[in-house]
Amino acid sequence: MTSKEGYELLKAGASELGIDVNESQWDCFYEYMTLLKDWNTRMNLTSITEDAAIITKHFVDSLTIAPYIKESLEGGAPKTLCDIGTGAGFPGIPLKIMFPELKVLLVDSLNKRLLFLDEVIARLGLQKVETVHMRAEDFGRDPRFRNKTDFSTARAVAPMNVLLELCTPALKPGGIFLAMKGGRDEGDFAAAAKKLSVRLEKTDRMTITTAEGGLSEQTEAERIIYIFKKTSPTAPMYPRKAGMPSKSPL
Ligand code: SAM
Repeated sequence: MTSKEGYELLKAGASELGIDVNESQWDCFYEYMTLLKDWNTRMNLTSITEDAAIITKHFVDSLTIAPYIKESLEGGAPKTLCDIGTGAGFPGIPLKIMFPELKVLLVDSLNKRLLFLDEVIARLGLQKVETVHMRAEDFGRDPRFRNKTDFSTARAVAPMNVLLELCTPALKPGGIFLAMKGGRDEGDFAAAAKKLSVRLEKTDRMTITTAEGGLSEQTEAERIIYIFKKTSPTAPMYPRKAGMPSKSPL
Protein backbone atom coordinates (compact mmCIF):
# COMPACT_ATOMS: atom_id res chain seq x y z
CA MET A 1 0.00 0.00 0.00
CA THR A 2 1.36 3.45 -0.87
CA SER A 3 1.70 6.10 1.79
CA LYS A 4 -0.99 8.14 0.00
CA GLU A 5 -3.45 5.21 0.08
CA GLY A 6 -2.66 4.68 3.74
CA TYR A 7 -3.30 8.31 4.54
CA GLU A 8 -6.65 8.21 2.69
CA LEU A 9 -7.68 5.09 4.62
CA LEU A 10 -6.79 6.63 8.00
CA LYS A 11 -8.42 9.94 7.09
CA ALA A 12 -11.65 8.19 6.06
CA GLY A 13 -11.82 6.13 9.28
CA ALA A 14 -10.96 9.05 11.53
CA SER A 15 -13.42 11.39 9.83
CA GLU A 16 -16.25 8.96 10.67
CA LEU A 17 -15.30 9.67 14.28
CA GLY A 18 -15.22 13.42 13.66
CA ILE A 19 -11.41 13.51 13.85
CA ASP A 20 -9.25 15.22 11.24
CA VAL A 21 -5.76 13.80 10.63
CA ASN A 22 -3.31 16.25 9.03
CA GLU A 23 -0.30 15.34 6.88
CA SER A 24 2.32 15.73 9.59
CA GLN A 25 0.26 13.50 11.88
CA TRP A 26 0.05 10.94 9.07
CA ASP A 27 3.87 11.07 8.75
CA CYS A 28 4.03 10.05 12.44
CA PHE A 29 1.53 7.21 11.93
CA TYR A 30 3.47 6.01 8.89
CA GLU A 31 6.78 5.98 10.79
CA TYR A 32 5.07 4.19 13.71
CA MET A 33 3.69 1.55 11.32
CA THR A 34 7.15 1.07 9.77
CA LEU A 35 8.76 0.60 13.20
CA LEU A 36 5.95 -1.72 14.33
CA LYS A 37 6.42 -4.01 11.30
CA ASP A 38 10.20 -3.97 11.67
CA TRP A 39 10.32 -4.72 15.43
CA ASN A 40 7.54 -7.27 15.02
CA THR A 41 9.95 -9.46 13.04
CA ARG A 42 12.09 -9.74 16.19
CA MET A 43 9.53 -9.71 19.00
CA ASN A 44 5.85 -10.43 19.45
CA LEU A 45 4.11 -7.05 19.23
CA THR A 46 1.04 -7.74 17.11
CA SER A 47 -0.54 -10.45 14.98
CA ILE A 48 -1.81 -7.73 12.62
CA THR A 49 0.89 -7.08 10.05
CA GLU A 50 -0.77 -5.90 6.83
CA ASP A 51 -0.81 -2.10 6.30
CA ALA A 52 -4.57 -1.68 5.77
CA ALA A 53 -5.27 -3.85 8.80
CA ILE A 54 -2.79 -1.94 10.99
CA ILE A 55 -4.36 1.35 9.92
CA THR A 56 -7.95 0.27 10.56
CA LYS A 57 -7.69 -2.27 13.40
CA HIS A 58 -4.99 -0.49 15.40
CA PHE A 59 -4.93 3.20 14.40
CA VAL A 60 -8.60 3.97 13.66
CA ASP A 61 -9.74 1.70 16.47
CA SER A 62 -7.46 3.53 18.93
CA LEU A 63 -9.04 6.80 17.82
CA THR A 64 -12.56 5.66 18.75
CA ILE A 65 -12.01 7.23 22.18
CA ALA A 66 -10.47 10.43 20.76
CA PRO A 67 -13.76 12.37 20.65
CA TYR A 68 -14.24 12.03 24.44
CA ILE A 69 -10.75 13.38 25.07
CA LYS A 70 -10.88 16.10 22.41
CA GLU A 71 -13.88 17.73 24.10
CA SER A 72 -12.05 18.09 27.39
CA LEU A 73 -8.86 19.54 25.87
CA GLU A 74 -10.64 22.61 24.58
CA GLY A 75 -9.60 25.19 27.17
CA GLY A 76 -8.57 24.50 30.74
CA ALA A 77 -5.47 22.95 32.32
CA PRO A 78 -3.35 20.30 30.50
CA LYS A 79 -4.79 16.81 30.84
CA THR A 80 -3.15 13.45 31.58
CA LEU A 81 -4.09 10.02 30.24
CA CYS A 82 -2.72 6.64 31.30
CA ASP A 83 -2.96 3.70 28.93
CA ILE A 84 -2.89 0.56 31.06
CA GLY A 85 -1.48 -2.56 29.37
CA THR A 86 -0.46 -0.49 26.36
CA GLY A 87 1.45 -3.33 24.64
CA ALA A 88 2.68 -1.97 21.30
CA GLY A 89 1.16 1.42 22.16
CA PHE A 90 -2.58 1.05 21.58
CA PRO A 91 -4.47 3.26 22.08
CA GLY A 92 -1.88 5.55 23.74
CA ILE A 93 0.44 6.37 20.82
CA PRO A 94 -2.30 7.20 18.25
CA LEU A 95 -3.92 9.48 20.85
CA LYS A 96 -0.56 11.14 21.58
CA ILE A 97 -0.02 11.77 17.87
CA MET A 98 -3.44 13.39 17.59
CA PHE A 99 -3.25 15.42 20.81
CA PRO A 100 0.27 16.84 21.35
CA GLU A 101 -0.93 18.76 24.43
CA LEU A 102 -2.16 15.60 26.21
CA LYS A 103 0.31 14.08 28.69
CA VAL A 104 0.37 10.30 28.16
CA LEU A 105 1.65 7.54 30.45
CA LEU A 106 2.12 4.18 28.70
CA VAL A 107 1.99 1.47 31.36
CA ASP A 108 2.91 -2.17 30.85
CA SER A 109 4.45 -4.96 32.90
CA LEU A 110 6.43 -6.23 29.90
CA ASN A 111 9.59 -4.19 29.47
CA LYS A 112 10.42 -5.48 25.97
CA ARG A 113 7.34 -3.74 24.56
CA LEU A 114 8.23 -0.52 26.38
CA LEU A 115 11.70 -0.55 24.77
CA PHE A 116 9.92 -0.58 21.42
CA LEU A 117 7.76 2.33 22.56
CA ASP A 118 10.81 4.30 23.75
CA GLU A 119 12.17 3.97 20.21
CA VAL A 120 8.82 5.08 18.72
CA ILE A 121 8.72 8.12 21.03
CA ALA A 122 12.30 9.09 20.10
CA ARG A 123 11.89 8.57 16.34
CA LEU A 124 8.57 10.44 16.18
CA GLY A 125 9.92 13.21 18.42
CA LEU A 126 6.90 12.94 20.73
CA GLN A 127 6.92 15.11 23.85
CA LYS A 128 5.05 14.73 27.14
CA VAL A 129 4.80 10.95 26.88
CA GLU A 130 6.48 8.41 29.18
CA THR A 131 6.71 4.65 29.37
CA VAL A 132 6.13 3.20 32.84
CA HIS A 133 7.37 -0.32 33.48
CA MET A 134 5.01 -1.46 36.23
CA ARG A 135 2.14 -3.76 36.89
CA ALA A 136 -1.09 -1.79 36.92
CA GLU A 137 -1.66 -2.88 40.53
CA ASP A 138 1.62 -1.22 41.62
CA PHE A 139 1.04 1.80 39.40
CA GLY A 140 -2.34 2.39 41.08
CA ARG A 141 -0.76 2.30 44.55
CA ASP A 142 2.20 4.51 43.70
CA PRO A 143 1.68 8.00 45.22
CA ARG A 144 3.13 9.61 42.04
CA PHE A 145 0.16 8.30 40.06
CA ARG A 146 -2.63 7.42 42.50
CA ASN A 147 -5.72 9.68 42.32
CA LYS A 148 -3.87 11.94 39.84
CA THR A 149 -4.84 11.42 36.17
CA ASP A 150 -7.73 12.88 34.18
CA PHE A 151 -8.25 9.86 31.93
CA SER A 152 -7.39 6.20 31.94
CA THR A 153 -7.99 3.66 29.21
CA ALA A 154 -7.27 0.07 28.25
CA ARG A 155 -7.84 -2.11 25.21
CA ALA A 156 -7.69 -5.92 25.20
CA VAL A 157 -6.30 -6.28 28.72
CA ALA A 158 -8.85 -7.96 31.04
CA PRO A 159 -12.56 -8.51 31.72
CA MET A 160 -14.35 -5.44 33.07
CA ASN A 161 -14.55 -6.51 36.73
CA VAL A 162 -10.74 -6.95 36.68
CA LEU A 163 -10.04 -3.93 34.48
CA LEU A 164 -11.84 -1.56 36.83
CA GLU A 165 -9.39 -2.39 39.61
CA LEU A 166 -6.41 -1.95 37.25
CA CYS A 167 -7.50 1.29 35.60
CA THR A 168 -9.36 3.48 38.11
CA PRO A 169 -7.02 3.95 41.14
CA ALA A 170 -4.77 6.34 39.16
CA LEU A 171 -7.73 8.56 38.21
CA LYS A 172 -8.38 11.73 40.14
CA PRO A 173 -11.92 12.15 41.52
CA GLY A 174 -14.00 13.35 38.56
CA GLY A 175 -11.60 11.54 36.19
CA ILE A 176 -12.87 9.35 33.36
CA PHE A 177 -12.09 5.72 32.56
CA LEU A 178 -12.71 4.86 28.90
CA ALA A 179 -12.88 1.07 28.60
CA MET A 180 -12.53 -0.15 25.00
CA LYS A 181 -14.46 -3.36 24.55
CA GLY A 182 -15.75 -5.62 21.79
CA GLY A 183 -19.20 -7.12 21.65
CA ARG A 184 -18.56 -9.77 24.32
CA ASP A 185 -20.81 -9.91 27.39
CA GLU A 186 -18.85 -8.23 30.20
CA GLY A 187 -20.92 -9.89 32.93
CA ASP A 188 -21.83 -8.13 36.14
CA PHE A 189 -19.35 -5.44 37.13
CA ALA A 190 -21.65 -3.28 39.27
CA ALA A 191 -20.11 -4.53 42.53
CA ALA A 192 -16.57 -3.81 41.30
CA ALA A 193 -17.59 -0.30 40.17
CA LYS A 194 -19.16 0.43 43.55
CA LYS A 195 -16.15 -0.78 45.54
CA LEU A 196 -13.83 1.28 43.34
CA SER A 197 -15.92 4.48 43.64
CA VAL A 198 -16.74 4.76 39.96
CA ARG A 199 -20.08 5.20 38.22
CA LEU A 200 -20.95 4.02 34.71
CA GLU A 201 -22.04 7.21 32.93
CA LYS A 202 -22.68 5.90 29.44
CA THR A 203 -22.08 3.04 27.01
CA ASP A 204 -21.51 3.98 23.37
CA ARG A 205 -21.66 1.43 20.55
CA MET A 206 -20.07 2.11 17.21
CA THR A 207 -18.95 0.26 14.13
CA ILE A 208 -15.67 0.87 12.39
CA THR A 209 -14.67 -0.28 8.93
CA THR A 210 -11.75 -2.67 9.12
CA ALA A 211 -9.60 -4.04 6.32
CA GLU A 212 -8.51 -7.46 7.50
CA GLY A 213 -6.46 -8.64 4.56
CA GLY A 214 -6.20 -5.51 2.44
CA LEU A 215 -8.30 -2.74 0.96
CA SER A 216 -10.47 -5.18 -0.99
CA GLU A 217 -11.59 -7.01 2.15
CA GLN A 218 -13.36 -4.39 4.21
CA THR A 219 -15.71 -5.48 6.97
CA GLU A 220 -17.43 -3.89 9.93
CA ALA A 221 -16.23 -4.35 13.50
CA GLU A 222 -18.12 -3.44 16.64
CA ARG A 223 -16.49 -1.28 19.28
CA ILE A 224 -18.15 -0.53 22.61
CA ILE A 225 -16.85 2.27 24.82
CA TYR A 226 -17.83 2.19 28.48
CA ILE A 227 -17.44 5.58 30.13
CA PHE A 228 -16.95 5.55 33.89
CA LYS A 229 -16.55 8.56 36.17
CA LYS A 230 -14.66 8.37 39.44
CA THR A 231 -16.79 9.81 42.21
CA SER A 232 -14.29 9.89 45.11
CA PRO A 233 -10.69 8.81 45.91
CA THR A 234 -10.05 5.07 45.68
CA ALA A 235 -10.43 3.25 49.02
CA PRO A 236 -7.03 2.41 50.61
CA MET A 237 -7.39 -1.37 50.10
CA TYR A 238 -7.48 -1.06 46.28
CA PRO A 239 -5.87 -2.04 44.04
CA ARG A 240 -5.00 -5.29 45.80
CA LYS A 241 -1.58 -6.85 45.40
CA ALA A 242 -0.37 -7.90 41.94
CA GLY A 243 -2.31 -10.85 40.55
CA MET A 244 -5.25 -10.59 42.97
CA PRO A 245 -7.57 -8.58 40.69
CA SER A 246 -7.59 -11.35 38.08
CA LYS A 247 -7.42 -14.24 40.56
CA SER A 248 -10.36 -13.00 42.58
CA PRO A 249 -12.28 -10.27 40.69
CA LEU A 250 -14.29 -7.87 42.83
N1 SAM B 1 -3.51 -2.50 24.65
C1 SAM B 1 -2.72 -3.15 23.63
C2 SAM B 1 -3.55 -3.42 22.39
O1 SAM B 1 -4.77 -3.24 22.43
O2 SAM B 1 -2.99 -3.80 21.36
C3 SAM B 1 -2.08 -4.45 24.15
C4 SAM B 1 -3.03 -5.56 24.48
S1 SAM B 1 -2.17 -7.00 25.00
C5 SAM B 1 -3.32 -8.24 24.60
C6 SAM B 1 -2.29 -6.88 26.78
C7 SAM B 1 -1.14 -6.09 27.39
O3 SAM B 1 -1.47 -5.82 28.77
C8 SAM B 1 0.18 -6.83 27.39
O4 SAM B 1 1.21 -6.01 26.85
C9 SAM B 1 0.44 -7.16 28.86
O5 SAM B 1 1.83 -7.16 29.18
C10 SAM B 1 -0.32 -6.03 29.56
N2 SAM B 1 -0.80 -6.36 30.92
C11 SAM B 1 -1.63 -7.36 31.28
N3 SAM B 1 -1.86 -7.34 32.61
C12 SAM B 1 -1.17 -6.25 33.09
C13 SAM B 1 -0.99 -5.69 34.40
N4 SAM B 1 -1.59 -6.24 35.47
N5 SAM B 1 -0.23 -4.61 34.52
C14 SAM B 1 0.39 -4.06 33.44
N6 SAM B 1 0.27 -4.54 32.19
C15 SAM B 1 -0.49 -5.63 32.01
